[in-house]
Amino acid sequence: MTNPDYLKCPKSDTAIEIRTDEAAEKSPFCKKHCKKKQFLKRSTAPSSTSDKKNAKLQKVMQYAKKTGATEAKIISTIDIVVEEKLANMCLEPRCENYGLSKNCPPHVSGPSQFKKQLENFNQAIVFKIDVPSEILFSSERRELFQLLHEMAAGIEQYAVKMGFKNSKAYAGDSCKKIFCYDHPECLALSEKGKCRNPQYARPSMSGFGINVLKLMETAGLTMNMATHNTDSDEIKMGSVCGLVLIC
Ligand code: SF4
Repeated sequence: MTNPDYLKCPKSDTAIEIRTDEAAEKSPFCKKHCKKKQFLKRSTAPSSTSDKKNAKLQKVMQYAKKTGATEAKIISTIDIVVEEKLANMCLEPRCENYGLSKNCPPHVSGPSQFKKQLENFNQAIVFKIDVPSEILFSSERRELFQLLHEMAAGIEQYAVKMGFKNSKAYAGDSCKKIFCYDHPECLALSEKGKCRNPQYARPSMSGFGINVLKLMETAGLTMNMATHNTDSDEIKMGSVCGLVLIC
C-alpha cells in the first residue's frame, strides 16, 4: 500500500486521505467519494488546526440536536441555491408581513448580496424540526416559529463561542408576526432603531431567495410538506427548518 496523500476536498474544505491515484476516502462532510483530480492540492498532512476546526464544527452540529433539532447536517455553502424568483414571492403574491420588519424584504439585502456574502463562508449547518401537521396551522404555530428562531440564534451563538465568530443564522417566517405581534411597529425600523429581540429574531430565508427544498435535499433531510390544505391523517408530520452559515 502506498503512503497516503492528503488533499483538500473542494466541497467541504476538509483534508481527505488518498491512497491511490483514483480512489479517495469518503469526505466526512459532503459524504462523497471524489477522484483525485477533483481535489485541490494539499502538500502536507491535515494540520491540527484543521482537525480542531472540524471537531468544533461537529460540536456545533451536536449542539443543534441537543437543543431540539429533529435532524441537523453540515453542508458546503457552494450547494446553497439562491433564486431571485423565490425572493420575489414575498412581494407577489404579497406576504402580509412584507416591509413590516427589519428582517424582511425590502429591508434585507436580498439574493444578489446574499450570494456575495456566501463567498465568505465554506460550511453551514442545516437543521429541521418535525412537528405533527396540525400544529403547523394551529394557534401553536407562532410558538413553533419562535422556537425555530430561538434555535437558529442559539446555534449561531454557540458557533461564535466555539470560535466561528462571523456565523450567521436564518430562520423562517416574519419576526414581526412572531415576536412583535402585539406592537404596532418594528422598533428596529423606527427612529429608535433597536430590535426588541436581538438575541432571538433572525431573518427569514425567503427574503434572500434561498431554495429551502433544495437545501434540505442537499443535506439529505426529508422535508415533510404540510400546507393549509394538508389532511393531517395523510401527512402526519410537517417540517420547519433553519440555516446557520459558519465562519
Ligand atoms: S423589533 Fe421586532 S419586528 Fe423589528 S426586527 Fe426586532 S423582532 Fe423583528
